Amino acid sequence: MIVLLLGAPGAGKGTQAALINKKYGLRHVSTGDLLRAEVAAGTPVGKSADAIMKSGALVPDDMILGLLKNALKTAGKGIILDGYPRTKAQTEELIKLIQNMGEKINAVINIKLTEKEIVDRIVMRRQCKKCGNIFNLRFIKNFDGKCPKCGSADVYQRPDDNEAAAKHRLEVYHAQTAPVVEFFKDKDFYKEVDGSKPVEKVFEEIEKIIGK
Ligand code: AMP
Repeated sequence: MIVLLLGAPGAGKGTQAALINKKYGLRHVSTGDLLRAEVAAGTPVGKSADAIMKSGALVPDDMILGLLKNALKTAGKGIILDGYPRTKAQTEELIKLIQNMGEKINAVINIKLTEKEIVDRIVMRRQCKKCGNIFNLRFIKNFDGKCPKCGSADVYQRPDDNEAAAKHRLEVYHAQTAPVVEFFKDKDFYKEVDGSKPVEKVFEEIEKIIGK
């Protein structure tokens, strides 16, 4: 099974992907996470991608395609793809890759959110280094600097989660990723969910799409 999660940065793709992974056992492949791992490991790809990511622009298609091919070598129970495709060219490459794997796309889920809500969410977003939990400071009363899930103090803010980069990422999204939505919009496996609802409600919508 292959599920694609679309939506602007901050719409909640990573959070929903983690829930889908837990319930359905599909592997979560996030091209942003793949790139961040390259940056952390200091590889040549990571070194070239670092400044581009911090600015909020997209890394070149050929750079991301190599990482993606590697990550998609085995489908197993299935894959949730988060953060790819982000351009028309990436969409075409993905369709070819999936065909070569003998798989098909089961669902394309677009998580919709207003622009104002997106920027607000991004600047308040934090992630736990220890357990990977993504959370939002707006929804936590008296934040004590610790991860609400595992209690670790190793909580960080992504370097591209500031207001300037967030606004740029949104511009990039409208200019380059909107055509991806257009590409899938008329397919019967394309569905939209309202990302402004609480996490559990959004997930309920997603369960209805994927099946219980
Ligand atoms: P994300 O974690 O999905 O928000 O991605 C963080 C950053 O990684 C983006 O702002 C881009 O710079 C880069 N990135 C992630 N996925 C892609 C992709 N499919 N194509 C190009 N750049 C990407």
